[in-house]
Amino acid sequence: MTRRSRRIRPSKNEQAKQSVDFLEKIFETSLPEDSHTSDIVARHILAIGKKHGKRPSREVKKMICRTCKKSLLPGQTSRIRVTSKVIFRTCLRCGRVNREILGTYGDCK
Ligand SMILES: [Zn+2]
Repeated sequence: MTRRSRRIRPSKNEQAKQSVDFLEKIFETSLPEDSHTSDIVARHILAIGKKHGKRPSREVKKMICRTCKKSLLPGQTSRIRVTSKVIFRTCLRCGRVNREILGTYGDCK
């Protein structure tokens, strides 16, 4: 029996990665000036990520609300509060609060 399922070709995984990279660039460009576009792109990034197991980069991820799947633009669609160790990001559209704990960088206690 011959199996042909193992042929090497640009995999869907690779395509998904490229799409996410591409969408992240659009997202970052459109975010400050066009919240409608960035909302749509944000949703696509999450959808591709979910389908193919691709995670958006940290920078992009924290600019997307996981609940309403829309872009978070500080001062416009999100509010940011910083305490000594934690950043709180509140989505002004659904009210979700995201916490990011600081101090994980080069923290070698
Ligand atoms: Zn939200």
